[in-house]
Amino acid sequence: VPVVAVVGRPNVGKSTLVNRIIGRRQAVVEDTPGVTRDRVPYDAQWIGRQFTVVDTGGWEPDAKDRAAAIAAQAEIAIGTADVVVFVVDAVVGSTDVDEAAVRMLRRSAKPVLLVANKVDNAALEVEATSLWSLGLGEPHPVSALHGRGSGDLLDAIIKAMPEAPPVSEPGVRGPRRVALVGRPNVGKSSLLNRVSREERAVVDSVAGTTVDPVDSLVEIGGQPWQFVDTAGLRKRVSQASGTEYYASLRTAGAIEAAEVAVVLLDAAEPISEQDQRILTMVIEAGRALVIAFNKWDLVDADRRYYLDKEIDRELKRIPWAIRVNISAKTGRAVEKLAPALRTALESWETRVPTGQLNQWLTALVQATPHPVRGGRAPRILFATQAGVAPPRFVLFTTGPLDAGYQRFVERKLREEFGFAGSPVEVSVRPRK
Ligand code: GDP
Repeated sequence: VPVVAVVGRPNVGKSTLVNRIIGRRQAVVEDTPGVTRDRVPYDAQWIGRQFTVVDTGGWEPDAKDRAAAIAAQAEIAIGTADVVVFVVDAVVGSTDVDEAAVRMLRRSAKPVLLVANKVDNAALEVEATSLWSLGLGEPHPVSALHGRGSGDLLDAIIKAMPEAPPVSEPGVRGPRRVALVGRPNVGKSSLLNRVSREERAVVDSVAGTTVDPVDSLVEIGGQPWQFVDTAGLRKRVSQASGTEYYASLRTAGAIEAAEVAVVLLDAAEPISEQDQRILTMVIEAGRALVIAFNKWDLVDADRRYYLDKEIDRELKRIPWAIRVNISAKTGRAVEKLAPALRTALESWETRVPTGQLNQWLTALVQATPHPVRGGRAPRILFATQAGVAPPRFVLFTTGPLDAGYQRFVERKLREEFGFAGSPVEVSVRPRK
């Protein structure tokens, strides 16, 4: 998600403009001289484009080191934003402080849009034209308070943003795509046959969707699911038709094509390296994950004891995976599969509102700041969720984080927001 930073002297109307951009009124308080707001990010959108707008706050007008305060604000904007919006009070005109900030902004390669605010009527537009002198190009005359010119400004902001990644067709969504994977003989075909038999029937077509002939459409838990690349399973040719190499290519292809993977493990056998490779494929592909321990009918108290130890040891890296213990043979707990898939997909598509994310983050870094190394500690400025499926978060920081601290933040993120059944990616963008 692109980041737009709003910069300017106190009282030029930054907060009002931010409110105008995010389309609410109550969010931000107007600059109070002498009060420094901190950087606060908000979710915003315009003509279908999502972005994060960061109010870089004001600085105390009579701060001892005013130049340093301006520099800090400009630096945050330059370091974190894709687009910088520089706000000037058109009624006052440009000041030496504005010029100092502009000098810093111009040194960065980031696009800077100049906003002439408080242009409440056409007569005031003349004042705005004098701001050409700042050398930031054409001023955008706006009345943040009344909304005048804000549509044009938003158009310009969107235009200045980096290209949007292609968005998938919204609306029509077919059945969720599931990869049923696991090593040979773990019970994949048995499970597929079991669910196809138990549930009403194999669904042949769902309105508005086409299903690849190698896929199976199966209704389980009252909902159709598209099991990808299962033709081989049904015809029982998969074992015959391939070396392990081809089997693994096929598994990778199915995972790639799916949204969620059911990794079948044999509860009666030790968790093997091949099992681990399949789990890694799912995690690295960023797919939602349900682990199904099959052949549970063969698990007695003795085996249970060793299995628990194996799970602790072998699946320690994925405590977030959803687990179900089933038997394709007897039908045990097979009905738990659909709810597990639904939960995993829900986590996979979770979007945490930016405000909530940053409230949590602020409290976290206050309680447990980054350890000091060599007299300094990088600070996390704010975070945004850059995407879903799986959830991806970006931490904007003043410098690289210790790997240990980053893992700590990731762990806490899961503790707070859950994400059962979904990988979560956290990346760090240090300010340059
Ligand atoms: P695939 O290679 O993963 O498709 O595995 P299959 O479905 O062909 O199953 C391999 C063997 O395990 C067959 O003999 C099945 O009858 C047996 N099997 C599958 N599921 C279970 C189960 O839940 N319990 C037991 N005891 N045997 C099972």
